[in-house]
Order: sequence, then C-alpha cells, then structure tokens
Amino acid sequence: MSRRRSARPAPRPLRPAAERIVDKRDGQWFVRPITGATSVKTYTCPGCHAPITPATPHMVVWPVEKALLSADAIDERRHWHSACWTRRH
Ligand SMILES: [Zn+2]
Repeated sequence: MSRRRSARPAPRPLRPAAERIVDKRDGQWFVRPITGATSVKTYTCPGCHAPITPATPHMVVWPVEKALLSADAIDERRHWHSACWTRRH
C-alpha cells in the first residue's frame, strides 16, 4: 500500500511584497509606492494639500493598526507625494 504524499502548497504571501512598514512619530504605516502608471484619479496630498494628478508617482500609506472607529485600516489609505511623505516625521 502506497501512501500518497500530500502536496504541500507553496506559502502564499498575505500581501504583495511591494509594501514596506515605516515607523513614524505616530505609529507604524504600510507604504506602497505607486508608479503612476495605474493611477487614474486625482488625490489630495495630506502633507501639502496640493493635488496628486493622474500618472504621478506617489505613495499610498495606511496604518498598521486601524483606528478605533474605522472598519478596516485599508479605509484609512492616504495618497502622499513621495517627497511630502519622506518629510513627515
Ligand atoms: Zn504633497
């Protein structure tokens, strides 16, 4: 009687590796660089309150720990100019 070896599926990462965790004064943030190639909306940068126009490379950040009143940390995503995010402490 031969035992069938169970195929072990390769572990699938929970999220794309493009994200980094960054420590700021107010906590830890996921940061995902956006090349701009897929960006079709205009966002307002929380750092300088200027628009981030489509096709502009920028950063999407959201908190590692969600705020108490938000259903999901992903709802707290913010789009930042890369330079504004870097300047933030
Ligand atoms: Zn900005």
